[in-house]
Amino acid sequence: MISQAMADQMSEEGAQLRRVAVIGGGTMGRGIAQVAAMGGLETTLFDVDASALERAQQAIAGALQKGVELGKVPAEAAERARTHLRTSSQLEDAARGADLVIEAVPEEIALKITTFRALDRIAPPHAVLATNTSALSITEIAGATERPERVIGMHFFNPVHLMRLVEVVRALQTSDATLAVAFAAARRMGKEPVQVNESPGFVTTRVNALIGNEAFYMLQEGVASAADIDQALKLGLNHPMGPFELVDLVGLDTRLKILRFLHQTLGEKYRPCPLLEKYVQAGRLGRKAGQGVYDYRSPKTGA
Ligand code: NAD
Repeated sequence: MISQAMADQMSEEGAQLRRVAVIGGGTMGRGIAQVAAMGGLETTLFDVDASALERAQQAIAGALQKGVELGKVPAEAAERARTHLRTSSQLEDAARGADLVIEAVPEEIALKITTFRALDRIAPPHAVLATNTSALSITEIAGATERPERVIGMHFFNPVHLMRLVEVVRALQTSDATLAVAFAAARRMGKEPVQVNESPGFVTTRVNALIGNEAFYMLQEGVASAADIDQALKLGLNHPMGPFELVDLVGLDTRLKILRFLHQTLGEKYRPCPLLEKYVQAGRLGRKAGQGVYDYRSPKTGA
């Protein structure tokens, strides 16, 4: 629960928040940059790969145009995004003046730690450093910096411009003031934040990984076809997507990495299903590979 004092601090932090740097312009980073700019924050998107920045710009322009055409994005919000967003291929340039930095580089602890050490050197002392990690320890990432009380998790969801939730994940060292900045930033971006104390997989990844893994066990045991398992969860449990449709979107390799981490930290119930391991070994990584549980190279077929 948020106290009145905390609510006041959030509105104050929200008013002071001006400049945001997003680190990593892939699937998540580009979406985060888009909603930050739509919220009127001066946003700079950085990536080590110049072609990723070009793809990000195109994707954002396309999403804004489509949003306006469908009447889901007000024309002023799209225009605000265009005028408030720039890209940079220099980390110093992106992070130097930021009040808030949101990191969205690949899910590897060593890479996150190297990135946070660099950001800690470059970003102004008052800046909050947030990570969009799906499951890694924010306490460990915070511990690698000289400002652990200003490090926090902001876990966005894919696709960022459509999904309303941000899990704001508090590390052991995170201060109340930092929590207030993250809540305020999420709201400026049109999102609903929830507070989670750090624990492997937070709330959503922990539940989602369990459902997705169980679906693979059912497929392996021949309980039902992939399409029927998806249909059962959609129509019977009101899930907007079936577990296999979702894992094909997320990437089977990404899901496997998450399950291995949860297995290590939370125990046996997260042991990755052998069928999932097999699909990953076969290169069936999901939509991005043209084939995952379903085949995207031809009309949708179950495994
Ligand atoms: P992605 O692979 O689509 O994008 C990562 C980007 O980071 C790439 O463009 C890459 O060039 C860039 N990059 C690599 N090293 C870098 C560095 N040192 N500095 C700057 N940029 C660098 O990955 P993604 O799916 O956007 O995931 C990013 C993070 O978000 C991960 O921690 C992931 O767990 C988390 N996440 C992903 C999803 C999802 O559905 N994809 C959902 C929630 C959270």
